[in-house]
Amino acid sequence: MSDLLLIIEDNAQNLYLMRFLLEKNGFAVIGAESGVEGVRMALRHKPQAILLDIQLPGMDGYAVAQELKKHPELVQIPIVAVTSYAMVGDRERVLAAGATGYIEKPINPESFVDEIRSFLPPERNQPQQKSPR
Ligand code: MN
Repeated sequence: MSDLLLIIEDNAQNLYLMRFLLEKNGFAVIGAESGVEGVRMALRHKPQAILLDIQLPGMDGYAVAQELKKHPELVQIPIVAVTSYAMVGDRERVLAAGATGYIEKPINPESFVDEIRSFLPPERNQPQQKSPR
């Protein structure tokens, strides 16, 4: 079974490029164009990782990360912020909101997939986490 990744990204070209690179490397990809839709899809599909744009209409990426972390069954899922923000402080802010890591746009097709892989737990040692009840 291939790893399922959720990409939350409102820019169709960015979504297309990320999806293309990841699918070419064996990942299954689902996309959401808004934060609200992204949270809903995360809850439904429990992806192995979530790639999160920060500049989103309505609910921005910081709010999405915070919302995702409110759900115990999603807490273990790595969130990788993908953003064109390059200002000092944004990295800290996105990590404080709950992101595991950070990738800057423009996406580098040469290194993108490896960067994403670096945020995934090593398959063999990671049994499915059960949410506490
Ligand atoms: Mn955007």
